[in-house]
Amino acid sequence: MQKQVYTFGSGKAEGNREMKDLLGGKGANLAEMSNLGLPVPPGFTISTEVCTYFYENGKKYPKGLEEEVTKALEKIEKVVGAKFASPENPLLVSVRSGARVSMPGMMDTILNLGLNDETVEGLKKQSKDERFSYDSYRRFIQMYSDVVLGISPHHFESLLDQAKRKKGVENDSQLDAAELKTLVTQFKNIVLQESGKPFPLNPKDQLWGAIGAVFDSWMASRAVSYRRINKIPEQWGTAVNVQAMVFGNMGEDCATGVAFTRDPSTGEKKFFGEFLPNAQGEDVVAGIRTPLPISQMEKQYAAPYADLVKVYQQLEKHYKEMQDIEFTVQKGKLYMLQTRTGKRTASAAVRIAVDMMKEGLITKEQALLRVTPAQVEQLLHPRLDPRVAKKVIAKGLPASPGAASGEVVFSSEEAEALKKAGKKCILVRHETSPEDIGGMDASEGILTALGGMTSHAAVVARGMGKPCVAGCGSISIDYKNQQFKVGGTLVKKGEALTIDGGSGEVILGQVPTINSQVDQYFTELMKWVDEKRTLGIRTNADTPHDVKIARQFGAEGVGLCRTEHMFFEENRITAVREMILADTKGQRETALAKIFPMQKEDFIAIFREMKGLPVTVRLLDPPLHEFLPKTTDDIETLARTLNASREALEAKVRSLHEFNPMLGHRGCRLGISYPEIYEMQVRAIMEAAAHLIKAEDFKITAEIMIPFIGALEEFRILKKDVVAVCDQVLKEQGIKFDYKIGTMIEIPRAALVADQIAKEADFFSFGTNDLTQMTLGLSRDDSGSFLPRYVEKGIYKQDPFVSLDQEGVGELLKIACERGKKGNAALKIGICGEHGGDTSTIEFCHGLGFNYVSCSPFRVPVARLAAAQATLKKSTN
Ligand code: PEP
Ligand code: MG
Repeated sequence: MQKQVYTFGSGKAEGNREMKDLLGGKGANLAEMSNLGLPVPPGFTISTEVCTYFYENGKKYPKGLEEEVTKALEKIEKVVGAKFASPENPLLVSVRSGARVSMPGMMDTILNLGLNDETVEGLKKQSKDERFSYDSYRRFIQMYSDVVLGISPHHFESLLDQAKRKKGVENDSQLDAAELKTLVTQFKNIVLQESGKPFPLNPKDQLWGAIGAVFDSWMASRAVSYRRINKIPEQWGTAVNVQAMVFGNMGEDCATGVAFTRDPSTGEKKFFGEFLPNAQGEDVVAGIRTPLPISQMEKQYAAPYADLVKVYQQLEKHYKEMQDIEFTVQKGKLYMLQTRTGKRTASAAVRIAVDMMKEGLITKEQALLRVTPAQVEQLLHPRLDPRVAKKVIAKGLPASPGAASGEVVFSSEEAEALKKAGKKCILVRHETSPEDIGGMDASEGILTALGGMTSHAAVVARGMGKPCVAGCGSISIDYKNQQFKVGGTLVKKGEALTIDGGSGEVILGQVPTINSQVDQYFTELMKWVDEKRTLGIRTNADTPHDVKIARQFGAEGVGLCRTEHMFFEENRITAVREMILADTKGQRETALAKIFPMQKEDFIAIFREMKGLPVTVRLLDPPLHEFLPKTTDDIETLARTLNASREALEAKVRSLHEFNPMLGHRGCRLGISYPEIYEMQVRAIMEAAAHLIKAEDFKITAEIMIPFIGALEEFRILKKDVVAVCDQVLKEQGIKFDYKIGTMIEIPRAALVADQIAKEADFFSFGTNDLTQMTLGLSRDDSGSFLPRYVEKGIYKQDPFVSLDQEGVGELLKIACERGKKGNAALKIGICGEHGGDTSTIEFCHGLGFNYVSCSPFRVPVARLAAAQATLKKSTN
């Protein structure tokens, strides 16, 4: 192995910021700060390669490490002018872990290492402060015993409490040197008692014990879980940072603090942070004393504060990024202990990116890469107030983001009734069906026990921009008694419930929410987003209301208008049912004639909202039985309305039952069986377009999309029918305008014969919900009960209904694009499955040269940013 130890802190360091892989984030930045000439206490970093070696060789260190550590320690001694283990003038060090990315669950810090019964006297001599010296010693034993020796901290805490109680004081700082000295003895006894061995008094042993503890902490179960969840490879390893101590607790001219170069919650360009006078680092973190705002530091610490201001400004300029810094003031002199990119809220991320671009610190491209699509998502939806405690009773799939509270109701009728009464509710169902649209619309949020990420509830809620937690298998609903049970908790109708559709949490009671935060910075950033992206962004929307929202969010057209959702509206469902139950074509046409004017009005309204942008209308898709009543009561009511016999009706409902409806009589198969249904819809689309063109001088390109195509001949037959109706309408209206006929690619066979179909089609739109279902053989409605385990076990890296399975389904997309373009070079290609709003799928589609992606209205801004980032990433690849 090459060099294993890298020094820093005395002028030029042996490392720099580019060496994060080798030195970890903390080590690389400490090196960088010393290279900038900033006041960093001297120290050294043991590289991550040593950690890897340690684990590959039965926890042995590589040859030569000990010598390198000794040499590096000597270098620190020289700079500081003190000697490790010296009873006269002892050098004390801190030991910290430091992976490439900051990682909770790993060993954090050991301070004051090097103290023992002799060196503490040396420290007393140097500091001329006996109390401080013994306080440092007892802190060291406490920390070391906990972190390195694994002795429970409560032993030490209770002794400390006892001492305070005995003296009748509240704070540790009120204990004097003699009392602290007694504590040191008691602490050492505890160590002997708990570990069976005396506390290590040799500073060298202490140091190697601490180094070993850092490497061990890499494999601590908390760290291992964190890595698994955050996909951090085990081979990365951690570095160890050993650094000369500086003391913020050596008197009133000492202090310690943490600060951000900008406000991490608003993004405002203002120095933000906290400090504690006369305190050691962990006091700030532990919350033992309440820190003061950094703005008050100037008064008492004028000179070091002026230095701190200079340093933070220099660091931000140098890193071109908001920094989170840690510092200590020892005897009036400032020392820097850490700098790293500061964590921030979503709105701060946007503001900082925009401001830094305007300040000339970063380019527009960099600004766009500084905000994540997930942050944009957060900004658009209400979220739970993080300051308020919550009682989580269950967790389901995070099916549609946002948070909402309301009274629990178990039926759509009740949801609608409560809405009318001006009350808020959460609709709780086993699953939802198209009949629940009204209830879903009336509720604040939806919770279902069954169903996956593309179940009805999930898709519709996303379209409405409403929070939804789906597939929450741990709740068992009892409709009869109007209650649900989860674990030992019973939740009854009318009780307050909160759901968080971003995390999948179900919370008892009402938790306050924070509203969406779209501001001037966001608007500006989104302008830059649109300058950079080349991929079109459309929306999946079925109502003029949703289309309007999507337009406001920047949608450039409708990529999928599911016409079936219109069929459920109160004033037309009866006519739809009449059409389904008709025995002859004539009867069917009579019923369709009733639906036609309403459908035409729908399209007029949608086209009008889109103001001439393209609108893709999909012809009827679901199996017809979905529109029929299910309960005996409802069948009876319908029989009465239609003046039909209940038995006959029941027989018809039974005859339409399918064992496998998702692969049944649906999609274009309905068009083949009942051409009059599609004819009515196409006429409604074309007449709506003609009306707007003639009466309102609109420019419209109607795009008619045929779903569920699997064979060329199927498409040919239906296309012929569609063209006939289109031409007929144009002739009747005496005008000419463009219309396009395309298909969804959602059956694997269609992807494979894409070259044939493309010869006939103007466009393809990938219906990746069904395509995933059929390619993976996974039911989109029923797999929620076992799919999470598949993801947990890594069989699928992510829920394939959320993020496209690029290896499998993605391959079909690739094939269909290549073959489709071969069949028709002018073919337009888009995606309208739920994956169209997923960041990595968008990048994938961009890579395949798609014309657009289409997603639910509230995801449009997220998709716009993801598309811009896809362009930027591709151009830097
Ligand atoms: C699809 O299958 O991806 C699609 C968009 O259609 P639906 O979800 O309506 O089946
Ligand atoms: Mg489909």
